[in-house]
Amino acid sequence: MDPIVALMQQVLDDVEDDDSGAPASYIPELAEAEPDHLAFAVVGPRGQIRSVGDDEVAFTIQSISKPFVLAHVLSEIGLDAVMQRVGTEPSGEPFNAISLEENTGRPANPMVNAGAIATTGLVAGADVDERTETILRTLSAFAGRDLRVDESVYRSESSTGDRNRALGHLMRSYGVVDAPVELALETYFRQCSILVTVRDLAVMASTLAFGGMNPLTGDRVVEERVARNVLSIMSSCGMYDFSGEWLLRVGLPAKSGVSGGVLAVAPSQFGVAAFSPRLDRHGNSVRGQAIVATLSERMGMHLLEPHESISQPIVDISETDDGRVIRLSGELGFAAAERVLAVLRDLAVVLPDGSVIHLDARELARTHPAALVALRTELDALPMRISYVE
Ligand code: GLN
Repeated sequence: MDPIVALMQQVLDDVEDDDSGAPASYIPELAEAEPDHLAFAVVGPRGQIRSVGDDEVAFTIQSISKPFVLAHVLSEIGLDAVMQRVGTEPSGEPFNAISLEENTGRPANPMVNAGAIATTGLVAGADVDERTETILRTLSAFAGRDLRVDESVYRSESSTGDRNRALGHLMRSYGVVDAPVELALETYFRQCSILVTVRDLAVMASTLAFGGMNPLTGDRVVEERVARNVLSIMSSCGMYDFSGEWLLRVGLPAKSGVSGGVLAVAPSQFGVAAFSPRLDRHGNSVRGQAIVATLSERMGMHLLEPHESISQPIVDISETDDGRVIRLSGELGFAAAERVLAVLRDLAVVLPDGSVIHLDARELARTHPAALVALRTELDALPMRISYVE
């Protein structure tokens, strides 16, 4: 068995027996979910999907749609215009709280219902169908396949969505929502009713993990900056009023939904998704969270752990007939530039003045401009003749 799949199966076995929590009951269709479903998927840089458990079961995406609709409106109108309508602070309140910023009426962030409704209200289109089409196109690009709406969950949500409608009316009274309330709300209910599997969610997560590039299709879905903005907001707000503790214990940007999905992102490493319908009191999947937390711990994925590769680019030194060649690969960030300079300074001590050194940077995957400026400035001060090839 593939060692990663074996590790995933082990994680699944470890959480399987926990039957605490209960499926969401406020949307009648969701209350009928099979509570024992359990699935887990990861997608790495080459776009290979690995999954275990009930990985073919389709469920509605619910709140996990929020970061992707946010990504769409950020791409269309930019961060500042979005932030005029919705904040970026963790609310510390339940996902469906009736709570808006004093005076402005802005919701706290785009991950709680109010903020998501305001965000969805920014999607362009003449009617619900056109807006839903745009959202489906965006989410499908993230997932790498064509997604569709579950009509019966949509009707169930719409027929019981008065609290969300109330939020819509309140925000429209402040001008936070321009669109007619029914237009924004029906689009939001349809967006929440898009069907996905845990494998789709893992691909969607991986597209955020790799800076907006879908590793399955190779398509650029959003700009790197948009992916970064979305991940920042997921880090502070993605798990509702558990977001702070989640960041502390698990350390990955994540998003949950009331049908039991959880998606998490290890930047530049993996997109992860889990599915199990029983929820805790915050509305987050009990076993879904346990799966991601266990994976993060076992694979050392906490964001705030030291990651040596950032400060240690790969430096390969070889002797050739026309001097020494230093090949750099990996990532040249600020700390890495410092390390390359240290290698050069050590060489300067042992080599005669005027020695020739070729610094070959062609294999660097990523170079940060400030690191390059620092490196170049210092190169000029060294007593060797350094040629820089990029
Ligand atoms: N459709 C759900 C709602 O608006 C989404 C909430 C969630 O997944 N937390 O109530």
